[in-house]
Amino acid sequence: MSAKIIDGKAMAMEIRQEIKKQVEELAQKNIKPGLAVVLVGNDPASQIYVRGKEKACSEVGIASETIRLPEDTSESELLNLISGLNSRQDVHGILVQLPLPKHIDSDKIIRSIVPEKDVDGFHPINVGKLVLGLPGVKPCTPYGCLKMLQKYEIAIEGKKAVVIGRSNIVGKPVALMLLQENATVSICHSRTKELSEYTKEADILIAAAGKPFLIKPDMVKPGAAVIDVGQNKLPDGKLVGDVDFTGVSQVAGWITPVPGGVGPMTIAMLLYNTLESAKRLC
Ligand code: NAP
Repeated sequence: MSAKIIDGKAMAMEIRQEIKKQVEELAQKNIKPGLAVVLVGNDPASQIYVRGKEKACSEVGIASETIRLPEDTSESELLNLISGLNSRQDVHGILVQLPLPKHIDSDKIIRSIVPEKDVDGFHPINVGKLVLGLPGVKPCTPYGCLKMLQKYEIAIEGKKAVVIGRSNIVGKPVALMLLQENATVSICHSRTKELSEYTKEADILIAAAGKPFLIKPDMVKPGAAVIDVGQNKLPDGKLVGDVDFTGVSQVAGWITPVPGGVGPMTIAMLLYNTLESAKRLC
């Protein structure tokens, strides 16, 4: 069996085209969605992510402003900056690129963003809404995973979904979204014993552990949908996911590649969240 490739890159392109169209329509009403990205320090990966976000915004006509701050920026300086962004009318989305330097309390910073502008969906109010099944801003990567399953008409209701990883930004929210869609969800993590006993049962397998090649073909149920969130850089610089793509694509029914799967969808959903935030706030 050869799995159908879930083409995140192509899907993200389509979503971006639609966002561009809607941004143009908003321009008729003199509304220009605006995203403020705050980057503290010199983390090379964060700098790449931020540049990707700036480029994506400009391509769809969203005004983006990146505030680059030195590594030794104090927590109170950052809180002051966010307070200013919270009250600016031209800023509809605020994103603080994580990780922050160790001397800054990330949770405190996330809580300081007004929930309406929290386009990452990390604020406890938005997390709470997700838990309660209420409308709110949904975190970009999990939302992108859900959109991919829906686009490829992969049944979720009544299916067994297994999520590997329990982080606040991927594992937990994606599990909640699948639960909301009436899947029966298991969440695995580093202390899970016999991981493969869970994965082999999964109709939908979401791998978000950050461990290259963790998921081997014999761990996957034939015909399953496998969403690979992992982004791991090998010593030779190659980017790979958590799934042994070559082997697993012989067993799975659907699979996302890395790169070209979840990554582009994450950025597309960030643009979507910013657009929706502008519509709500204006
Ligand atoms: P994280 O905070 O490090 O969480 C990793 C999770 O995986 C933890 O819950 C950990 O368990 C679990 N885990 C680690 N090793 C495991 C193993 N051998 N078996 C089972 N579970 C294991 O990472 P994250 O921020 O959620 O990100 C996960 C991956 O997704 C990373 O590769 C990251 O780069 C990638 N990512 C991609 C995108 C994208 O746009 N494509 C966005 C965000 C993240 P414990 O809780 O027990 O430690």
